[in-house]
Amino acid sequence: MIKLSKCSVGELEKQAVCNVIDRNYLGMGIEVKLFEEELKEFINTENEVICVNTGTSALHLSLLCMGIGPGDEVLVPSLTYVASFQAISATGAKPIACDIKKESLFININDAERKITKRTKAIMPVHYASNSVEIYEVYHLAKEYNLRVIEDAAHSFGCTRNGNRIGFEGDTICFSFDGIKNITSGEGGAVVTSDLQLANKIKDARLLGVHKDTEMRFSGQRSWKFDVNSQGFRYHMSDIMAAIGRVQLSRFIELSNMRRKIAKIYTTELKNINKLKSLNLNYDEIVPHIYPVIFESEYYRNKIENVLTVNEIETGKHYQPNHMLNFYYDDKIRCPVSENIYSKILTLPLHPSLNEENIKIIVDLIKFNLK
Ligand SMILES: *Cc1c(COP(=O)(O)O)cnc(C)c1O
Repeated sequence: MIKLSKCSVGELEKQAVCNVIDRNYLGMGIEVKLFEEELKEFINTENEVICVNTGTSALHLSLLCMGIGPGDEVLVPSLTYVASFQAISATGAKPIACDIKKESLFININDAERKITKRTKAIMPVHYASNSVEIYEVYHLAKEYNLRVIEDAAHSFGCTRNGNRIGFEGDTICFSFDGIKNITSGEGGAVVTSDLQLANKIKDARLLGVHKDTEMRFSGQRSWKFDVNSQGFRYHMSDIMAAIGRVQLSRFIELSNMRRKIAKIYTTELKNINKLKSLNLNYDEIVPHIYPVIFESEYYRNKIENVLTVNEIETGKHYQPNHMLNFYYDDKIRCPVSENIYSKILTLPLHPSLNEENIKIIVDLIKFNLK
């Protein structure tokens, strides 16, 4: 059985978890503080880094602490994980499904602009398949219409853009450290923001809105007399999670090299097959979280999906467009490219423990069955 995606954790992560257990304190403390500092250093940014319990929480708190809520609208590509949509609707705001460009599957900025209304407060571009080279169009639009930007960078931890790590620049960038992402902390996420006031609000909001509780917990204390100024959540990261995340961050070169190597082999091997195409991405900058391919037609996609399944090779479809889901369905919303791509897309296995033999099996099956 070849898995579609898989975490890569081992003895080092086990030891780190054991060390936290031996310390007899499992909540948010020194490990989270160190993980935040190490992330900041890794990204090489002056921006604030705030760790939370999931990538979805990172998105939710960013929106909420920007003051986005009922009556507001947030532009988001339909072709994303449902987490992006749920984070928006959790605030009471309405996610407005936007179409994508058929070459990069990045949000189509013209469609986004058409869907702007007086209620539009923010735009949430998704770094689909870890790519965000078109982000500057988003910031340009945001500036023109006075919108906040929340980048769903769940796929792109550790990538660079023009030589700088994702999170180095921008308004607010959210990462996920769930089990199958570029690095994991078991479950986890982080907000990176250039807005200091927003950062302080998020720090409180992750701990039930208890004012400055983050500082207390980082110094091993708890607040017994405090004030609360806003709705908060139990969205903080625990020391167990941070300990795993710190080891994974220290293994970043190893993990990212394996991901990049696989994506490069796929790209080379599949290049001359005319019934499918890969995304045109620069794997010297990108650390790929997924490897989707787009077929000439739904027929060939289904054919290869079946062949791989029969051969015990798991595949995926990233993603079912969210405007087609019952909860988000709106008969006025059109995203034809997203729907078309969804009928022709297939994600091939990609994770650090895949070896070259596995990839050869996959590539040979595809080549043989598209002849
Ligand atoms: C994984 C993912 C998320 C959510 O992250 P979690 O840590 O699982 O909550 C959000 N958006 C996208 C595009 C993702 O792939």
